[in-house]
Amino acid sequence: MLNRSLGELSRGLRNGDFSSVELTRFFLDRIENRGAELNAFISVTAERALDDAHAADRKLRDGGAHPLTGIPYAHKDLFCTEGVATTCGSAMLADFVSPYDAAVSERLNAAGMVMLGKTNMDEFAMGSSNENSFYGAVRNPWDAARVPGGSSGGSAAAVAARLAPCATGTDTGGSIRQPASLCGVTGVKPTYGRVSRYGMVAFASSLDQAGVLAAGAGDCALVLQAIAGFDPRDSTSMDEPVPDYTPPADANIRGLRVGLPREYFGADLDPAIGAVIEQAVAALRQLGCETVEVSLPAMSLSAPAYYILAPAECSSNLARYDGVRYGHRCDAPADCDDLYTRTRAEGFGAEVKRRVLVGTYVLSSGYYDAYYLKAQKARRRIRDDFARAFERADVLVGPASPTTAFRLGEKAGDPVTMYLSDVYTIAVNLAGLPAITLPAGVAGGLPVGMQMIAPHFREQDLFRAGHCYQRETDWHRRMPEGFE
Ligand code: GLN
Repeated sequence: MLNRSLGELSRGLRNGDFSSVELTRFFLDRIENRGAELNAFISVTAERALDDAHAADRKLRDGGAHPLTGIPYAHKDLFCTEGVATTCGSAMLADFVSPYDAAVSERLNAAGMVMLGKTNMDEFAMGSSNENSFYGAVRNPWDAARVPGGSSGGSAAAVAARLAPCATGTDTGGSIRQPASLCGVTGVKPTYGRVSRYGMVAFASSLDQAGVLAAGAGDCALVLQAIAGFDPRDSTSMDEPVPDYTPPADANIRGLRVGLPREYFGADLDPAIGAVIEQAVAALRQLGCETVEVSLPAMSLSAPAYYILAPAECSSNLARYDGVRYGHRCDAPADCDDLYTRTRAEGFGAEVKRRVLVGTYVLSSGYYDAYYLKAQKARRRIRDDFARAFERADVLVGPASPTTAFRLGEKAGDPVTMYLSDVYTIAVNLAGLPAITLPAGVAGGLPVGMQMIAPHFREQDLFRAGHCYQRETDWHRRMPEGFE
């Protein structure tokens, strides 16, 4: 069961080799036995999962099943789920039960997928290590003393440990690709506007995008197929046709132009990670790709720009948590100011407060031009750099993270060092591009991910290249010791 692709699970369900109830029980048992040590789940919805599995089995029997019907998944606790708590990793939303489903939840339900539970995450998706969760840190299944990455760390750890065959994630600055890299799984962040943000708790609205984590690229393709597409309830959702993401089994990437951005292979890249990526690039060449060096000169502006824009948007989005409408409310407020102040002081953790403060500052009159406006200009330059690079390359390849999984606590006291975990991922969000992380090797016994970036709405190229690469390699099939 553990190393079957979603396609194989789907065939097994259709052939009657096992039922959805059996499959669901299998993963629920794994969560029960191994979930606590990783702290990957905030809630496990066993009863509902078994009900849904029964319904899926009926559909599989009676016809009308979707290719994903009956397959279990873990859902990042940032997607609203009707009747099931959506905490976003925050004390602010600890008791929040959404009255409606997010678009992504709706679509996964409609496909007949079975939700196992909601995964742990950095509070409001702010973080790179999953140490910012109100529910405690998640542990990396490859080494329990290390972080799984963030903010979709619970999803990445759950998939790596095979507590679920796939999981949802969100990526504002790297939160799917970086934890996928640190946990040795595949993770795809689609083009901005590809997947509806309706019912996704907002962090930075111009950057947030939902995606998928699973063992292989083919698995991610199947789930993205189910969640992608236009939604009039999200004003930034794009009305673009969704192509078939699953490449034919005999797909090839001969002649694919692979751009290697110079800035991704600079002095700050750990040589052991550089060696893994070079080996992966050699494998792509073996498969017939051509490589070409490209440059993204404004790349060094991406972290400074992101850490102005994302906090600015977060300070505005998080203004809604005021103790009036929903979420935490302090006891016995003396007046309105006291209500706001104590509610927010009690409900938010340190990193969220830091972002709200920075965001409010950069948006304040007098500083707006100096920070926010300048950051927007940098964002434009970064976007233009990518457009130029894509004139010479079909995809870009580089590392997804400058380091392998670091130790719990190692960067927790130093926000700037933590922010630099995202140097290879955030430019992609600023430009709104799709990108995938593919497990590509190990360094010091820990997984290393290769990142591949495509032009807007070219997710299919990422899946095709990922499929071809994973047909030749088995890094995506390796499981952490003790979880095989
Ligand atoms: N680590 C980045 C941050 O803390 C990105 C988070 C994300 O993609 N949600 O903002």
